[in-house]
Amino acid sequence: MKIVEQENKVRCDVAGCKNLAEYSIVGEGGNKSQYINVCKDCLQEIHRECSKIFVPKSPTNIFNKPIYKGGFR
Ligand SMILES: [Zn+2]
Repeated sequence: MKIVEQENKVRCDVAGCKNLAEYSIVGEGGNKSQYINVCKDCLQEIHRECSKIFVPKSPTNIFNKPIYKGGFR
């Protein structure tokens, strides 16, 4: 799946949104009629909603004290 810029004047597919779509979510092997067209606002909204579902893992803590093996300091 990828997100491409929508160059045609098509409506955003999100219910209740009247904006023109600026991006399309494209599945592998899908044709244009199967694109999910979204405007920038809705894409940001989707991103925000996704982040509620997929909580990003905290990066490994690089500030952990290094463990000295063999007592060599
Ligand atoms: Zn929209």
